[in-house]
Parts: sequence; C-alpha cells; structure tokens
Amino acid sequence: MTKPDPREAGRPRLVLVGNGMAGVRALEEILARAPHAFAITVFGAEPHGGYNRIMLSPVLAGERTFEAITTHPRSWYHENAIELIAPEPVIGIDRAAKTVTGALGTTRRYDVLILATGSNPVIIPLPGHDLPGVIGFRDIADVERMIAASKSGRNAVVIGGGLLGLEAANGLARNGMATTVLHLMPTLMERQLDPVSADLLRADLGARGIKVITEADTKAIIGTSKVEAVQLADGTRLPADIVVMAAGIRPNIALARQAGLACARGVEVDDALLTSDPRVHALGECVQHRGALFGLVEPLYDMARIVADRVCGTAASTYTPAPTGTRLKVTGIDMFSAGDFVGDDTTDHLVFRDPARGVHKKLVVRDDRLIGAVLYGEAADSAWYFNLICNEIDVSALRDTLLFGPVETTTVPLEALPEIAEIDYPAGSGGVLLAVTEL
Ligand SMILES: Cc1cc2nc3c(=O)[nH]c(=O)nc-3n(C[C@H](O)[C@H](O)[C@H](O)COP(=O)(O)OP(=O)(O)OC[C@H]3O[C@@H](n4cnc5c(N)ncnc54)[C@H](O)[C@@H]3O)c2cc1C
Repeated sequence: MTKPDPREAGRPRLVLVGNGMAGVRALEEILARAPHAFAITVFGAEPHGGYNRIMLSPVLAGERTFEAITTHPRSWYHENAIELIAPEPVIGIDRAAKTVTGALGTTRRYDVLILATGSNPVIIPLPGHDLPGVIGFRDIADVERMIAASKSGRNAVVIGGGLLGLEAANGLARNGMATTVLHLMPTLMERQLDPVSADLLRADLGARGIKVITEADTKAIIGTSKVEAVQLADGTRLPADIVVMAAGIRPNIALARQAGLACARGVEVDDALLTSDPRVHALGECVQHRGALFGLVEPLYDMARIVADRVCGTAASTYTPAPTGTRLKVTGIDMFSAGDFVGDDTTDHLVFRDPARGVHKKLVVRDDRLIGAVLYGEAADSAWYFNLICNEIDVSALRDTLLFGPVETTTVPLEALPEIAEIDYPAGSGGVLLAVTEL
C-alpha cells in the first residue's frame, strides 16, 4: 500500500533509482534549477550517501579515506528535503500504476522517474569464478574486501590490464600484496595507450613490484572453499588469496528490462535522455545512446544537465557526445590519453621521446586539427591538448611547437635587446627565445 507523502504538498513526485555519480549529479542540477519543484525520493542499493567513485582507487591505495571522498553525506539529503531510502535496491517498477518498489517492500509513486543504475563489473565465467575471494572493483565494499584480503593473505591476481585493473593492482601492491596483472592483449591499456607508452607503463609498474603477464590466457580459478590460485593455459599456476576481475563493465539494465523499457546493451535513450516511456528518463553508465555505451564521468555530467533541463522544463536541450580523456590514478605515473591516438594514412603523427626520463608524447593531426593525444611521463599540458581536440582548433600556426605544449611568448621592446641575456623567461618557455619581432 502506498503511503501519502507529507512532503508532497501538491508537488510532482520525482523518484531517482541509483544513488551514484550520475544520479546525484542530476539531483544537484535539478535543485539548482528548481529547488522546491519536486517531492524527491532516492533509492540506493549501497548503504551510503553519494561518494566519488573515481576516488576509490586512492582509497584502496591508502591515499584517501572514504569520508574524504564522500560528496553527499546523509545530512545533504536531509537539508534538501530529499528522502533517501538506502540500502534498498528497487526490484520492481509498475509503469501503469507509476510506482517503484524496493527489496524491503518500500513503495513510492512517481510522476517523473529517473533511472541511474550504473554498471556491473563483468565477471568472466571461468571455472571457479564464483569462489569466495573473486570480486569486481566497483564500490566501497569491494575496496574493503581488498583491504581485508591484504591483511590476511599475501598474493593477489588482477584479471584485466585496463585502467581499473591497474589501479586495483597498484592499490593491492601498496597494501603489501605480491600482485600480478593478467592481460589478454599484447600491451596494457591498449584502448588508451600506444605500444611505446604501454611499455613504459609496464616498466613503471614493474618498478612498483607489480608483475604483468600479457597475452595471458586464464583457464581457471582454483580453490575448494575459497580462491587459492589462478591457472593459465600454458600451465602457469599463480597463488592467489584474492582475484580481482577488471575485465570490463556491463550496463545494469535488469530493472529497466523487467519494467518493459526498450533495452539493447544499455537502456535505450533518445537525445532528450528519455527511455521508451516518456515519464522515465535514464542517464549514466546504464544507458545506450545512439549505440554508444559509457564508462567515464564526464559524459554523465553532460547528461545530468540535459535531464535536469528536461525534467524542470527550463530548456529543450539534447545530449551530444563529446570526446573524453583518460588519466591513470597511480601516484607518480603521469599519463593522459584522448581521442584517436592511432590515426591512419590521412593523419600526421608528431612524436617526442625522451627514454632517459621515461617521457613519450604522440599527437595525431588531421587537416590541421589535433584529433588525438597520448602523453606518458609528462602530462601537465593535458588540459591544453584536450581543449584543442574538443574545440577542433586550427593548430597549423602552433605545429612547430605543438609537442612542447602552450609555449608562452614574451614581448620585449627592441631597445631592451642588448640586455636580452637577463630576460627572465617565463616558466614553460623552456628558456628558448622563439622569435624576435620588430614592433
Ligand atoms: C575504481 C573506479 C575508478 C574509476 N575511475 C574513473 C576515472 O578516473 N575517470 C572517470 O571518468 N571515470 C572513472 N570511473 C568510472 C566512473 O566512476 C563511472 O563512470 C561513474 O561512477 C558512473 O556513474 P553512474 O551513476 O552511472 O553509476 P554508479 O556511480 O555506479 O552509480 C550507480 C548506483 O546505482 C545503484 N543501483 C544499481 N541498481 C540499483 C537498484 N535497482 N536500486 C537502487 N540502486 C541501484 C548502484 O549500487 C550504484 O550506487 C571509475 C570507476 C571505478 C569503479
């Protein structure tokens, strides 16, 4: 039986399912546009307020506390008159009655429903994948399991040498575990790094005590009552007290599918981020938009603005995909990757290498526009390159110095030239006078 909500006071009821990064950002955007327009209820499967999921890696590595990455404590919901029902996952949506029901039986009616149920880690169905000690890397509970494993065990195996896998491996190693990364492909992070920078990364991880096995064909996870080892096809047997599967994510569409909403790999949404039901919006990693899936926060923040505009009726804005950039959050490893860093026979490649310092930069240019970049070992200028990529800026005038970042220019009156040796060159110019122009 649905109880009347005393907070309603004639206001439309907005229910958010999924208290993660996309959902909470959508709430922020809605409150900024129309703070009192809705009676808001949030269902969350996790027992917390909002937190910065991205920063789970530094929490695992012991560099941050969970409190420090909590962005929306329960008091925030209270202050904004938002009803937070957590932990209680929603297990059913009745679109005819316009109600949602949680696993503990809590039911709420909605006028507007927003789904932001995120993704689940892909657990490869290897023999032994369901043994205790085999986990994904998605939430604070996973981090707590990894930290507990490091207290009682010695060996960790991470399956997957992408961003998440390497951040997990770094954290486990920082917690004192002998850590091995198994990666199916010949080079690490192949979707973000070219082979040269991937080799530099492998060496940097090796220096941190992390062993990497590429082209690893994992056959089985071995154990009786809990995980004990990982078996490779070539016969290698790696002892393991914990196995972290970081082999990709899959949109969490179970609830949307149960509710009869159109789903492909994700919940299908149009440019207004509406599902096949005009009363139900969806955003975040659970959605599929024009065939694309999502795995980074930047697009989700754009989606949150669109959903808020639409729900509040402030603008008929539409979602347009934009390029995204990636950084690895391993302290001391500086890398950035964005756009098409592979290129083809219509692109020019500008490459800078300084093997002694472990620096490698590759820029891909097409028709005088930067379309992709990989920076390894020195990524301080990543925001500048990212801006050039996103805004399709003509780089023909910058081409000679493009690899050196935003070189500053200093205008010096000609009469000062005799004292040129005393010019204080600005930081970033590399101390090089590039041009003297008579004014
Ligand atoms: C360790 C880690 C590091 C990352 N690092 C980066 C990074 O450096 N850069 C970057 O851009 N991105 C990074 N990401 C990805 C980023 O965190 C995600 O893109 C983002 O969190 C997705 O937001 P979301 O709201 O769609 O999903 P989530 O943040 O996962 O939120 C979904 C929420 O919905 C809840 N939920 C699911 N089903 C239900 C239900 N039926 N009822 C109620 N609640 C439900 C889930 O429990 C979860 O709390 C990282 C992710 C991880 C795990």
